[in-house]
Amino acid sequence: MKIGSPKEVFAGEARVAMTPDSALQLQKLGHECFVETGAGTVAGFADEAYTAAGVTVVADEAALFAAVDVIAKVRAPSDDEARMLTPAQTLISFFNPAGNTELLELCKEQGATVMAMEMVPRISRAQKMDALSSMANIAGYRAVIEAGNNFGRFFTGQITAAGKVPPAKVLVVGAGVAGLAAIGAATSLGAITYAFDVRPEVAEQVESMGAQFVYLDFEEAQKDGAETGGYASVSSPEFREAQLAKFREIAPDIDIVITTALIPNRDAPKLWLADMVASMKRGSVIIDLAAERGGNVEGTVPDEKVMTDNGVTIIGYTDFPSRMAAQASSLYSTNIRHLLADLTPGKDGVINHNMEDDVIRSATVTRGGEITFPPPPLKIK
Ligand code: NAD
Repeated sequence: MKIGSPKEVFAGEARVAMTPDSALQLQKLGHECFVETGAGTVAGFADEAYTAAGVTVVADEAALFAAVDVIAKVRAPSDDEARMLTPAQTLISFFNPAGNTELLELCKEQGATVMAMEMVPRISRAQKMDALSSMANIAGYRAVIEAGNNFGRFFTGQITAAGKVPPAKVLVVGAGVAGLAAIGAATSLGAITYAFDVRPEVAEQVESMGAQFVYLDFEEAQKDGAETGGYASVSSPEFREAQLAKFREIAPDIDIVITTALIPNRDAPKLWLADMVASMKRGSVIIDLAAERGGNVEGTVPDEKVMTDNGVTIIGYTDFPSRMAAQASSLYSTNIRHLLADLTPGKDGVINHNMEDDVIRSATVTRGGEITFPPPPLKIK
């Protein structure tokens, strides 16, 4: 089959869904590879590097869409891109099918097969295709780097001839994939790192990464993640009050807060309130990784950096993976390549879109002129 990646049209998006390395692997599966000219330039992959890897570079997006059977993208297609799809084509990208119902309808009308990367189920077999995790890992790491860039001091404590420097104190709220990556980056820079999550089972993971878990003086245990598929559920009002009281107590002592707390299918819970921001020291930094879903922090403005009256910087950027476009493209293109490997079981360049396969079925959101989202429950957990 012919597989191609266009240059992303979403403003500021620097990632690309195919790299020269992933193209080499796709060719081993029997596929031919194409990119639109300039598709990888911002991420650091020049047209010449693609050509050297056996990829055909085509002049524009329309030519790319006309040339290939499978389009691999990062962002959901624009309406113009969706209108170029044909019933014979498959599009693979992030799509947010629950929130993009009109786009889903348009792709159905076009008759194309669409696979949404965020719908890849989080089962062991599919970890290599889990783009939500690979991008969350980058977001967590980059959040720490961004915090450091806006924090006027060292993370690590030092005793030097020029004076004694205390270590920075970092609090990570939400210890999922992004939070654990942030803990790893902050501890490796030498900060004293604390973390909190409503799922009690993550305390061990937090501690194994060198951070201290923040325990609440509260008797009611939160639901174990095993009951909720590993995701958080909404806290009881009493638990939430105990959590806010603990945050209020520690806020004046924390230099950097990184929030990542999400609950599936809901707005992000507000956890770091205006009075906590107001009690932080001048020069402190907050990175709100939940900004796109409404933010965990009162005062976050999505895609902006704001400075409060008391000198606290609040960063609500929603494009952290794109800010590390080379790394993000390498990992994302590997996720796509693994998905295509499952779609090409014979390694003969022939795609077998097996709707009996849990992973392929879950990710497929339109096919044959039908909307196939939401998927049925998984057969294998
Ligand atoms: P997420 O992005 O949905 O949420 C981030 C974190 O915020 C979660 O740890 C959640 O518990 C926490 N949170 C929610 N409300 C909170 C609150 N009020 N206060 C503090 N923290 C709060 O999470 P994620 O990174 O997508 O991970 C979700 C689950 O999926 C985890 O159990 C993770 O281990 C699991 N996972 C499994 C696989 C796999 O098996 N292939 C891959 C990735 C993630």
